[in-house]
Amino acid sequence: MTTAIFHTHTGYTGKPVLIVGAGLAGLTCATHLHRAGIPYRLFDKSDAVGGRIRTDSVEGFRLDRGFQVLLTAYPEAESLLDYDALDLHPFDAGALIRKNGRFQHVSDPLRHPGRSLATLSARVGSFSDKLRVLSVRRAAKQSFEQNGSHRTTGETTAHALRKSFGFGDDMIASFFQPFIGGITLDPSLKTDRAFFEFVMHMFAKGNAAFPAGGMQAIPEQLASGLNPKWIHLDTPVKAVLDASALTTEAGERIDGEKIVVATDMNSARTLANDPGTVTDRPWNGTLCLYFRAPVAPLNDPLLMLNGEGEGLINNVVVPSLVAPGFAPEGEHLVAVSVFPDEQVEADILLARVEDELSTWFGSQIREWQHLRTYHIPHSLPTQAVGSRTLGASAVAATEHGVVVCGDHLTTSSINGAMASGRQAAQFVMSSFALS
Ligand SMILES: Cc1cc2nc3c(=O)[nH]c(=O)nc-3n(C[C@H](O)[C@H](O)[C@H](O)COP(=O)(O)OP(=O)(O)OC[C@H]3O[C@@H](n4cnc5c(N)ncnc54)[C@H](O)[C@@H]3O)c2cc1C
Repeated sequence: MTTAIFHTHTGYTGKPVLIVGAGLAGLTCATHLHRAGIPYRLFDKSDAVGGRIRTDSVEGFRLDRGFQVLLTAYPEAESLLDYDALDLHPFDAGALIRKNGRFQHVSDPLRHPGRSLATLSARVGSFSDKLRVLSVRRAAKQSFEQNGSHRTTGETTAHALRKSFGFGDDMIASFFQPFIGGITLDPSLKTDRAFFEFVMHMFAKGNAAFPAGGMQAIPEQLASGLNPKWIHLDTPVKAVLDASALTTEAGERIDGEKIVVATDMNSARTLANDPGTVTDRPWNGTLCLYFRAPVAPLNDPLLMLNGEGEGLINNVVVPSLVAPGFAPEGEHLVAVSVFPDEQVEADILLARVEDELSTWFGSQIREWQHLRTYHIPHSLPTQAVGSRTLGASAVAATEHGVVVCGDHLTTSSINGAMASGRQAAQFVMSSFALS
């Protein structure tokens, strides 16, 4: 592979910036360099862009590799993505909570005043707990206005809910554990309060949504704005040699102007070879089981949460009720998310999940057909209290001058990965200005 000298309209003359990893962080970094007229090369070991955001087509269904949503209020996503072109389909605000063998509808009283009575009478938490949600909203807004998305608080979400906001155990177990635990993939709620408040504010300001084409449409949209000749898929990078050269697994040496390691945390540790820059955080994992169903088990595009305090299932959604293109016409897609805290064999897990689903939805689930199960043990780096992730900066540089970005340096989220990628591009550009 040749690395030609580029002459660009910014006046920058030099070799390309070499970006390893075409997940959201790498794509965002490349997008900002592209817009500034700085040449880049993007390498990924995979056969498509997107990293942890991929969508498979299976028998006419769109299966995201693990249930995830875009929160439309994410500031980084709002500023870089074209939401109209993504054709976003929002969930209804609120959730159906499975508790005491029945579903209770809880919605945001400020967004659905008409449903306030139903929410207040739902047997999920006390009356005072429901009013406390308003205090959370206020605190979350204030914290966002003061600190943006990432500023560690030194307090766990569980502690904040119980001690600072005063919620009762029932509200925490039947609502916050499945809801926030389902987002952070940390049902123990040890996640830093800062991320909890950030997420609550994002839900208050915008919607959870799917692009019509599945979640992979997000990275694909970013890639479509880049020079296709500068995206090298199926190209695993073996080693970063110094601040400006790398080798591929195929044995090729590539020289660039600067290197940005935008991989997942584990690969970044190996490639950056600097434990001080890329810390070793545990991963939170998840399992997602997809089923095809002739009839949807509910009518509205709502998240269903397990508030029973027991069972394998954390949440159930029907993506085809949110965005019809997720299933062929006349059918529905059901996604069931499970915490992988037990080492259960795949077929036993499926049988147990189906048993649990039949207590939720009755005999209709006999008509459902299992499509695929995704087990993703490395979904999100934990965001525990005290981790450096919730600092002011989402980018780092090793002592050898290699730039590192990715969600492991900030909040484990779409917004975090994009913020980190943007900051990496800014860091690179500022280093050119200095040199
Ligand atoms: C199941 C699941 C659910 C989630 N739910 C949500 C959600 O609802 N909302 C939300 O905001 N976020 C969610 N997230 C988090 C979000 O998807 C991630 O934070 C984000 O996509 C991370 O992007 P990244 O670019 O930092 O890393 P990655 O997406 O991991 O990208 C890294 C890239 O580097 C490549 N790579 C690694 N090693 C090499 C190498 N040696 N050579 C070349 N390429 C290499 C990989 O192939 C990959 O493409 C979820 C994630 C998962 C997995």
